[in-house]
Amino acid sequence: MTPNPRIPNFDLHGAFPFGSHDDAQGAPTFSTFTLADHAFEYVGLALTRAEFAGYVDGYDFGKIPPSYIVFHHTAIPSTKAARFPSGAVWDDHEDGLNEAQIKAKRLAQLAAIRDFYIHQYGWSAGPHLFCDDTYIYLMTPMANIGIHAAEGNSTRINGKLAYSIGIECVGYYEKVVWPLELQRNVGFAVATLQRKLKTFELRAGGKWKDLGAHCLYNKPSCPGAAITPDFYVKVCQDAATQLDATGQVKALSVHPKLLGAWQLSGGVWLKDRLTPGLPTAPAFVGKDGMLYEAFERSVARLKADGGVDWLLLNEVAVLSTPVT
Ligand SMILES: [Zn+2]
Repeated sequence: MTPNPRIPNFDLHGAFPFGSHDDAQGAPTFSTFTLADHAFEYVGLALTRAEFAGYVDGYDFGKIPPSYIVFHHTAIPSTKAARFPSGAVWDDHEDGLNEAQIKAKRLAQLAAIRDFYIHQYGWSAGPHLFCDDTYIYLMTPMANIGIHAAEGNSTRINGKLAYSIGIECVGYYEKVVWPLELQRNVGFAVATLQRKLKTFELRAGGKWKDLGAHCLYNKPSCPGAAITPDFYVKVCQDAATQLDATGQVKALSVHPKLLGAWQLSGGVWLKDRLTPGLPTAPAFVGKDGMLYEAFERSVARLKADGGVDWLLLNEVAVLSTPVT
């Protein structure tokens, strides 16, 4: 593979340790082909949740829409919050880059993954979506059968074709769950697809139905041991309850106890810090019994003395797993 000067550190050697060439096999539509016959159809967009909602709303899924979900993790590339012991790191080498530069860098990385699929695996398609802490990425058109989970790619149910949307969660989730920011993007993507298609439900479905994962088919280590059916179902259901009538995320309010603490402190955000932005999820009680609420740029924790701690977005995923 020719190195891309935009992403000199993004070396995909050893990538997808829990994926393999044979994820293209086992599905009834699979047949051998050469790349000359099947060009890799590639969308190559990085969308915010609001943009993804608009995209799905206007998208034509064709006569046979997808009817179940298969979750994956990339493992390599990993992320800083969910790191694999070796290999490329998706969100590394971004210090000093602005938002547009980070988006361009990550899209170049997505294209490098497409090239990896073509040249290393000989695939003519890949997973449909990739999610990270910032964007929902489109790789393979969602109206097409993807390649990502062997017999989980597509099947026939009573003679009728059924196929999945394959979602790659960027990172290594054997020991840690998806960080909150990733949960928001994955949950939103699935809830948005369910709302549009109504061909599946937001529940654990087993093979070829509703919400499932690569481990149901041929890869026990994907999407990582921390990502149980209970976990991903809750992420998607929580996201669905936060959609308003137009499919956008509802405006959320600050929990009264947190709001009270801020007002008592004079209503001033912690000095010399970025403001936390708007709430992104309802407040919840963590495993440690403390009250948390996630905001766009930080997570608030109500202290026993009534003060508020500000945590990094990634910290809370460890503290609050699993949240019930
Ligand atoms: Zn997988």
